[in-house]
Amino acid sequence: MFKNKEEFKTEFTKRIIEGYGRPLKEAHITEKFMVLEKLIRDQAAINWALTKEEVQDSQQKQMTYFSMEFLIGRLLVNNMMNLGVYDIVKEGLADLDINIHELEELESDPGLGNGGLGRLAACFMDSLASLSMPGHGNTLRYQYGLFKQKIVDGYQTEIPDQWMSIGNMWEIRKPKHAVDVRFWGKVIWDDSTGRFKHVDAECIRAVPYDMPIIGNETTVTNTLRLWDAEVSTNIPTNKDFRQYSQEVNEICQNLYPDDSTLAGRTLRLKQQYFFVSAGLQALIKSHLRTYKTLDNFHEKNVIQLNDTHPVLAIPELMRLLIDEHDYDWEDAWDIVSHTMAYTNHTILSEALEKWPIDTMRALLPRVYMMIEEINRRFIGYVKEHVSNPDEVFNHVLIIKDGQVHMAHLAIVGSFSVNGVARLHTDILIHQEMKAFAELYPTKFNNKTNGITHRRWLAYANPQLKELLHDTIGDHWIKEPDELEKLMAYVDDPDIQKRFMQVKRDRKRILARYIQKNNGILVNVDSIFDIQVKRLHAYKRQLLNVLHIIYLYQEMKRNPEFRIYPRTFIFGAKAAPAYFFAKKVIKLINSVADVVNSDPETSDYLKVVFLENYGVTLAEMIMPAADVSEQISTAGKEASGTGNMKFMMNGALTLGTLDGANVEIHERVGDDYCEIFGLTAKEVDSLRQSGQYNAWDYYNNNIKLKFVVDSLVDGSWSASREEFRIIFEELMNYNDEYFLLADFDSYIKAQQDVEKRYLDKSAWAKMCLINIAKSGFFSSDRTIKQYADEIWHIQPVKK
Ligand SMILES: *Cc1c(COP(=O)(O)O)cnc(C)c1O
Repeated sequence: MFKNKEEFKTEFTKRIIEGYGRPLKEAHITEKFMVLEKLIRDQAAINWALTKEEVQDSQQKQMTYFSMEFLIGRLLVNNMMNLGVYDIVKEGLADLDINIHELEELESDPGLGNGGLGRLAACFMDSLASLSMPGHGNTLRYQYGLFKQKIVDGYQTEIPDQWMSIGNMWEIRKPKHAVDVRFWGKVIWDDSTGRFKHVDAECIRAVPYDMPIIGNETTVTNTLRLWDAEVSTNIPTNKDFRQYSQEVNEICQNLYPDDSTLAGRTLRLKQQYFFVSAGLQALIKSHLRTYKTLDNFHEKNVIQLNDTHPVLAIPELMRLLIDEHDYDWEDAWDIVSHTMAYTNHTILSEALEKWPIDTMRALLPRVYMMIEEINRRFIGYVKEHVSNPDEVFNHVLIIKDGQVHMAHLAIVGSFSVNGVARLHTDILIHQEMKAFAELYPTKFNNKTNGITHRRWLAYANPQLKELLHDTIGDHWIKEPDELEKLMAYVDDPDIQKRFMQVKRDRKRILARYIQKNNGILVNVDSIFDIQVKRLHAYKRQLLNVLHIIYLYQEMKRNPEFRIYPRTFIFGAKAAPAYFFAKKVIKLINSVADVVNSDPETSDYLKVVFLENYGVTLAEMIMPAADVSEQISTAGKEASGTGNMKFMMNGALTLGTLDGANVEIHERVGDDYCEIFGLTAKEVDSLRQSGQYNAWDYYNNNIKLKFVVDSLVDGSWSASREEFRIIFEELMNYNDEYFLLADFDSYIKAQQDVEKRYLDKSAWAKMCLINIAKSGFFSSDRTIKQYADEIWHIQPVKK
């Protein structure tokens, strides 16, 4: 492979000619792009092979992260940087008259995830490889990702995300490792073998595509395995072939657009079982090649289940061990329950996954039998361990009221159950999963989420990286805790000034993008106040809008009322079937139209909705933020990771005491973040008391009343009905997420933010302190904790 610029140029030119049969100067730009990506992948292949060999030879334990999503973002530059060849390639291409940035822009974000849960999986993959840990990913190869969002007349519209239209150069198809996955059919008792037999099943072939996960400054290269569905050679005889191939095709066609509620029921369950069964079969085959027995499977493998989506891994591994490898129940259960670890991501009841028994039993008859038996034995366990089993059953049964409760199955079948921020884990242990925590006191633990500082700081914000280079050096890239060294500079006026200059540069980059995409001219010296995340009622983008409406109304009503110029920036996709969320997007855009074009206010107030929020856009947004909006109803956001990205790039967190905001607050203190609103406990008792009444807030606060009334008085739309459901949600459905209760406190916090911003030196100091204290939120820390406390895996030697 290439070791210097000249070798790179030779190899690149040769591949263009070989691949496309024409000289470099006539090659199309997409051809150059594809050749470059493949060349970088091949550059990584040597280390990839060496890593596999080393892990096999040393017989060390490996972790596989089972997740329905990996929101990995662009890979080209990241991979070149991690391989340490970025500068060589950039200069080599420049010699050949090619601008590397033009090639970079051709890469699309892989459509393998929805939001925070998928992004977490991606950050974990980066940290695992960079810490030289043997940890891999297992998921589906979705042909279309989450939709591409276009805003038309202020409304979200959805366009298919054809992320593979020019191919995915990173993946390698591995047909030799294909396995069959079986659906439908029935289970019969076979007297001749003395076993159950799954007959008349529909076989679908699972074919893996492997992508290298390249660590930073290490030769360790892990694997992200994407399973694709193909026609099996075991073609079912009783099926019409066209119908069969239709069923094959739809399995990997679409990523489900909703990360909190269920849709497309049976098809989604099929997807879950498909990648779980294929992943387990592949792990078993590979294990048997090295060890010839599965007795030590759990000593050499650990599987982390990212939320409940892959929890069928528990009954499926039971099935494989018992039906295909001759284990009895107890031995199989010992292996399974020492292999599986489960991460809980939500306590929103509508997001707790349940499947109707009938659906599960028809689609996966043998797996369902395993679940029944797990449930039956678990009932016995409960009876043995508690004095009031009937009461406890209500909270813990796996099969209840005609449904399979996936979180319950996950807890029973795993040796570890973790929440994703301290507050979230506390709520799990003391409220949501209390009965389980009492049954299994040692299973529950916390692993506060993190983000990779390599992508979210070093890569996304080279300007800030350079400032850090000039002050504290570069060692923080290996040891993110060393960002703390920046504390020695937070009072230094020169460094403060330089930081403000970096921030201004980044705001200018975002402002240019806004001008180009939204046609809105924003003031780079205004406060960039940003809320980007999936659109959901509990995240309360609406509270942000209510504040903007309040500011606008005050300015219109009172000529004395002046604010420091603000630019409110939103980015959010709403699930296509989530009517309320889509209305909030329309409201943001309608308010933007009025406010931005009003000459009385437009110098002070601008509202921008950036369409198609995703990883690549986030990489431009995070560095440009002054204020990070993290305003969910306390107790609802399990962790959040957007909050960490903003903090690491030197923004002020304006947030409730929810999720990881609690831990951000704990690290920087009251002076360096802005906390407001009800606490989780207060929200809880207010809800429990039954005393909360939205009308009381409305009637007792004239300013709030004006704001809420504007939703239905034609202020933002010619039709008074346009935003009626938002009004209804707040007033007649009694404001489920307590926006009105937090309104005053939010306004006051926003005034504080403005006051802080007026003192530029204090502001810069505050941002620098946030950066200095953000090392804890590196996913390197999170991964080390998982590795030490749950997985018990060691770095690869070489
Ligand atoms: C970080 C990230 C998220 C998660 O954001 P939250 O504010 O934690 O909900 C979602 N989408 C993308 C593209 C991200 O990068």
